[in-house]
Amino acid sequence: MLVVGGGPAGLSIAAALAAERVRVAVLSASDPAAPWPNTYGIWGEEVDALGLSHLLEHRWSRTCSYFGAGEGGGPGLADAPTPHGRDYGLFDKTLLQRHWLDQCTAGAVRWERGEARELSFVAGASQSAACSLVRCADGRELRARLVVDASGHRSALIRRPDRGPVAGQAAYGVVGRFSAPPVQPGQLVLMDFRCDHLSPVERREPPTFLYAMDLGAGRFFVEETSLALAPALPFDTLRQRLERRLAHRGVAIEVVEHEELCLFPMNLPLPDLDQPLLAFGGSAAMVHPASGYMVGALLRRAPGLAAALAAALRADPLASPAALAGVGWRALWPLELRRRQALYQFGLEKLMRFSEAQLRAHFATFFALPPQQWTGFLTNTLSLPELVVAMLRLFATAPWSVRAGLIAQQGREAALLGQLIWPRG
Ligand SMILES: Cc1cc2nc3c(=O)[nH]c(=O)nc-3n(C[C@H](O)[C@H](O)[C@H](O)COP(=O)(O)OP(=O)(O)OC[C@H]3O[C@@H](n4cnc5c(N)ncnc54)[C@H](O)[C@@H]3O)c2cc1C
Repeated sequence: MLVVGGGPAGLSIAAALAAERVRVAVLSASDPAAPWPNTYGIWGEEVDALGLSHLLEHRWSRTCSYFGAGEGGGPGLADAPTPHGRDYGLFDKTLLQRHWLDQCTAGAVRWERGEARELSFVAGASQSAACSLVRCADGRELRARLVVDASGHRSALIRRPDRGPVAGQAAYGVVGRFSAPPVQPGQLVLMDFRCDHLSPVERREPPTFLYAMDLGAGRFFVEETSLALAPALPFDTLRQRLERRLAHRGVAIEVVEHEELCLFPMNLPLPDLDQPLLAFGGSAAMVHPASGYMVGALLRRAPGLAAALAAALRADPLASPAALAGVGWRALWPLELRRRQALYQFGLEKLMRFSEAQLRAHFATFFALPPQQWTGFLTNTLSLPELVVAMLRLFATAPWSVRAGLIAQQGREAALLGQLIWPRG
């Protein structure tokens, strides 16, 4: 099999296929061992359940968010944090990458450098199987029984429907040193939605929040984040908002060690599930539409997908690319997961319409749900009925301003809800 892309998705699925003794090659435009630019966060319970907590570089127990009091965003804005009572971690990027690379090496994965441009198929003869043919930018051609596209959300090979504007999560972050601590010692702030540094007019603009953490030894990571918006908020706006927010608390950036420019789609439509190649990771729309997280899902789901593909190969050594891809798509996006995705995308559509005050009230209600409900929601580990129960509970306990926003149907919300009942397949 040929995995296209050597990022987190490519390495995780290549490692899992190799563990199933499937012959794998990885075609990557960049060096798969080159340092990754992004910081990857994950909930403590999620990484513990995977038995991979040793891959964390940082772990916080003092986790909280700030949603402010009242709904006006005015003088009622409280400084009291909402404690989450759940651990949160940041991966050691090198360790995570090494974790997968070592498994690839143990499974004799072959490495190819190049950029995939086109895909075609070669029909099989009586004793030989049909195969996929990937043409690279430099003219080389690589053959494989199945292509697994893990080239990220800008995939050139994967087909998906056009469902209108795709919302981007955008963030501008700085790892560095500051004139005063931007968060309390040992603290991780998941979302600081306080907006007392903004004028009433600015509060009517698309809301952003601060994601911030103490990295120890006087270093902090602070990131101004727009959950999702179409078109995405520009980095300049986010940088100015971050500086304004910090200045309001008497904090200035003194040393910038690393700048993070984060932009990725939150509600990419699912790929067409009848195409004769498979996708994994960003290209397969696996980013959680409510949180933007994906690494936990990669770690959880790569082994099952690889096992399904390996079993299909064993059952029919001459299986065509289309047949193998069909097995893969069914394992990756079964009906239940497609329904959950529709529900999450519907929820995100709602959040994008919420005013700053509604959004703060919504998240305050969300994080007051029983922890197993909000953590399960954020990690996509609740079953569909459990997810529906969590959402109904949120509705029942939310203030009227949030309920009104949830009831009103606008734009493509009804169509998204329809996919809960009849998901594409
Ligand atoms: C700044 C940032 C922060 C994030 N933070 C988190 C987080 O904290 N937690 C979390 O779970 N998720 C996070 N995400 C979301 C998600 O996990 C990442 O986007 C993740 O990197 C996606 O992995 P991927 O392997 O699918 O794609 P990518 O990381 O984009 O990797 C794609 C790979 O494919 C290669 N490639 C591309 N095109 C081709 C081609 N045509 N041929 C060959 N190779 C090709 C690229 O060189 C690259 O190596 C974050 C995303 C960003 C952008």
